[in-house]
Amino acid sequence: MTDRDTRHRNSMQKLKTHVDERIAAANEQRGLLLVFTGNGKGKTTAAWGTVTRALGYGYRVGVVQFIKGQWECGERERLAEDPNLEVAIMATGFTWETQNRESDTRACREVWQQAERLLRDPDVYLVVLDEITYMLKFGYLDIATVERALRERPAEQTVIVTGRNAHRELIDMADTVTEMRDVKHAFDAGIQARRGIDY
Ligand code: ATP
Ligand code: MG
Repeated sequence: MTDRDTRHRNSMQKLKTHVDERIAAANEQRGLLLVFTGNGKGKTTAAWGTVTRALGYGYRVGVVQFIKGQWECGERERLAEDPNLEVAIMATGFTWETQNRESDTRACREVWQQAERLLRDPDVYLVVLDEITYMLKFGYLDIATVERALRERPAEQTVIVTGRNAHRELIDMADTVTEMRDVKHAFDAGIQARRGIDY
């Protein structure tokens, strides 16, 4: 064995010890609260990726879409065939298109009822609250209501929250928080959102 091989073996052994220790220390099992926030692209994509993962094991999943950058959504089209997936969509589109606080608030409260039902159902393994942070920001929903529903959910249920500027309370409550950082985005260079890639 060369020196390099020996060094590699030693460092892999150290890494294995470290990883094994961490695995042994992680002994709690329960549903999680994940927050995907930040200005970079990938929050909703990551949420749908996790939905696919859970459906892959035959778990029941609920996705609540609070606002839509696009009416179309490739993942929803594809995964809708799965009887274990339930999708609830807010009845209005862009808030900067509707520009009507009253109808937006009503639409938000309606879809929130669906979310609350999913958050009470112990048979639902994963719930996604896509773009809910905007509902809190615009004041269509209050943080105390959302916090309560999250705290009172079944212990085995995982929830993913997506959207920019996640509330401090959500970040504090969460087990895993990922901030997508905008290094650059094609849109800023005048390139249109692309079907099958951006939505
Ligand atoms: P995606 O749905 O692609 O995972 P996202 O959920 O992280 O993106 P949103 O803020 O929900 O981002 O944006 C919705 C739409 O805007 C998507 O079509 C997405 O590709 C696009 N987008 C995301 N980030 C940016 C950005 N920094 N600049 C311009 N457009 C963006
Ligand atoms: Mg999104």
